Amino acid sequence: MLLDVEILDWRWTRPQDPAIVADGLRGQEVRRVGRAGKYLVWELSDERFLLVHLRMTGALLFDPDVDPPHTRVRMRLDGGHRVIYVDPRRFGTGHLVLGEAARDAYLNERLGVEPMTPAFTAEHLRDIARGRTAPVKAFVLDQRRIAGVGNIYADEALFRAGIHPLRPAGALTRAQLEALRDAIEASLRDGIDAKGATIDDFRHVDGAHGSFQDRFLVHLREGEPCVNCGTTIRKLVVGGRGTYVCEHCQPRPRARRRPARPRTNGSA
Ligand SMILES: [Zn+2]
Repeated sequence: MLLDVEILDWRWTRPQDPAIVADGLRGQEVRRVGRAGKYLVWELSDERFLLVHLRMTGALLFDPDVDPPHTRVRMRLDGGHRVIYVDPRRFGTGHLVLGEAARDAYLNERLGVEPMTPAFTAEHLRDIARGRTAPVKAFVLDQRRIAGVGNIYADEALFRAGIHPLRPAGALTRAQLEALRDAIEASLRDGIDAKGATIDDFRHVDGAHGSFQDRFLVHLREGEPCVNCGTTIRKLVVGGRGTYVCEHCQPRPRARRRPARPRTNGSA
């Protein structure tokens, strides 16, 4: 039971009014906390749902000793427990929706197909990639197309699949789509096994740190040799995100040949 909720940062609930969200949460029982893409879905009593996205630096802490810096939300539960939401960069969000239909509408608008489900097939990837000229890296990161793949996992998956991050999504071959599907699932599974990656200040609800960063194949390995071929890993920026690639294992797409233009150097 949520005995009390204090939302200290209006940005967390924007555009919802933090006072109204806090009122809507107070007195609710937390039935279940699930996940959809990168959203944490708190199922409350009265068909209410709190949809939390941690973004870059958000974390939920269960029973911390003190209020850490950057505390944005304080929740007091029965049994003397507390949940604190901290977020130095304040990109995380918490929205209250009423009813399952509203929950599904909220998530469907923001989330694409979920890896690790039967719907995540190479055919589905082909359908959503068709005609898209955006780099495959941006495509994989687009939560409205594929849910829950972050920057690290996108780099790791593209490396495993041998696909250059700049290749246009719509130009992937059938074999590449199959490889990409498998590689996304393999990378996510590795990350889950390692309890996530701790790069800056990512924490688990119990304050523990993950170890996936020790297993990165390419991500953050600029200047190091590729684990497969020894070629130096390069860092590029794709869609505004730091992107790591072995350009031997992940060949760069060939520049489209320009149509031959007749030379019009009259004097020559
Ligand atoms: Zn390589």
